[in-house]
Amino acid sequence: MRVDVHTHVWPERIAETVRQLTAGPMKLEMAFRNTVDGIKAHMRESGVEKSVVLGIVERADQVTRANDWLMSIQDEMLVPFGAMHPDLDDKAGEVRRLRDGGVKGIKLHPIINGFYPDDPKMYPAYEEMGDSMVVAIHSGLLPHIGPEEPAYAAPERIMNLLRQFPKLKVIALHLGGFYMLDEAERYLIGRENILIDTAWPPSLGEVASDTLAAIINRHGAHKVCFGTDYPFASQVTDADHLLALPLSDSQKEGIMGENAREFIGL
Ligand SMILES: [Zn+2]
Repeated sequence: MRVDVHTHVWPERIAETVRQLTAGPMKLEMAFRNTVDGIKAHMRESGVEKSVVLGIVERADQVTRANDWLMSIQDEMLVPFGAMHPDLDDKAGEVRRLRDGGVKGIKLHPIINGFYPDDPKMYPAYEEMGDSMVVAIHSGLLPHIGPEEPAYAAPERIMNLLRQFPKLKVIALHLGGFYMLDEAERYLIGRENILIDTAWPPSLGEVASDTLAAIINRHGAHKVCFGTDYPFASQVTDADHLLALPLSDSQKEGIMGENAREFIGL
């Protein structure tokens, strides 16, 4: 089964606004449609059977509404992970509400929401997730982040979180460190209890094949899962780049979906 663990879509009525917001200040261009219909059309073309849709919000007061919508799009093709925010009062309650609604994980974006993933104010959420739900964490930087800004999503912070919660099921997105691959290598790559995904927008092709194969081999192909960051990247060309790597067929099958299926419980 082919699974993309890293996609984003929005409700039709705000999709265009979000597209403009990300293209402007965040310098991330959406190459594809950022709606439910848009991603489903792309999945039919790419052969991806399930896409994990990661929720992102700017403010704490948006969490409940975003998660209501995410739960409403859940079907055989779309697997929502709920949004979370450090300033939400009842984080454990929201995690419970998501789990009761059939949601299998949450997404954290430390940069957009300005917090460190190992901040104790996030602990109630992690405690409630236990060892069953998955937390997908943006790891590394973003194109518009300058060196003077705090590295909220530094791989070191994620390693520290794992130290506090060794049983938490974590996916460190963007090969464990977007534009921070050296730090990812130092702190996350090769560790046992963490998966990484392959999202590298606008195209995984920006990571040279030998570099990518080396990261996968060092971390362990059984702990790597296909993720694209759709609509910022293509499920077709990113899959082609991975499938051309010098890996065994069973390693590729794991990366393209089986590792995620097992880890998330799809
Ligand atoms: Zn993303």
